[in-house]
Amino acid sequence: MMSRHLDLADSSARSPLNHGSRRTPALLSVIIPCYNEEEVIGETIKRLRSFCASLTDLDVELIFVDDGSRDRTRTLLKGFASEDARIKLICFARNFGHQIAVTAGIDAARGDAVVLIDADLQDPPEVILQMVEKWREGYDVVYGTRTERPGESRFKLATARSFYRLLNRLSEVPIPLDTGDFRLMSRDVVTTLNAMPERDRFVRGMVSWVGFNQIALPYRRAERFAGESKYPLRKMIRFATDGILSFPASPCRSPWPWA
Ligand code: UDP
Ligand code: MG
Repeated sequence: MMSRHLDLADSSARSPLNHGSRRTPALLSVIIPCYNEEEVIGETIKRLRSFCASLTDLDVELIFVDDGSRDRTRTLLKGFASEDARIKLICFARNFGHQIAVTAGIDAARGDAVVLIDADLQDPPEVILQMVEKWREGYDVVYGTRTERPGESRFKLATARSFYRLLNRLSEVPIPLDTGDFRLMSRDVVTTLNAMPERDRFVRGMVSWVGFNQIALPYRRAERFAGESKYPLRKMIRFATDGILSFPASPCRSPWPWA
């Protein structure tokens, strides 16, 4: 299942045991982008807190990025942040979109490892424990691959399937199928991502492109805890366009795509 891509930085000289050894205990940053999630945010905090309690040898920072919510999400998050020092909050002045929210979180993260997770509990926080185990074995990227996707519309499943297959045909690096942004990344990967100047960011494609040791972690994607998808067709089209046109391995970036 492991896929190895081009290594941008030289990780060959690094022992897997060096992972997370920069401070003791190591710090794990969890990034949670939120847009109009007032119906789920209380439960999300509860689940993340009990996940944190199950970690014995890691410190955690929970970085919530409020992507210009118009409901009570921001007020609720401010309340939670004021009573829990592990919770950090980035507030956008308007809705910039999921990928920009994730990018701001990655930029602000200080952890030795950084995890991206959706706010709606479709990605179970408990799976992060398995990601951490793989990271400790020496992997730089542990990406969640969905074995099941209950509760998704046929339209969403069909368009996602076609999109990733098309993208893989076009791209010079393989992009794992059935894989969203739910993943753990080592500090080396995060440093590399932060140095990339792409404006229209397609984060999962960029992570495939940077290389390092990557491994898939199959998991069962849950249904959204409450509320509705914040990805209407308009945002899905924008997301797919960024994937096809602007990520580094896209042939559309080259003036000679056939070269
Ligand atoms: N999200 C965001 N900005 C947006 C749209 C979505 O930050 O403009 C967040 C959303 O709150 C959730 C994650 O991105 O935490 C994924 O969105 P959603 O669950 O609605 O997408 P789906 O699972 O339906 O593809
Ligand atoms: Mg969702």
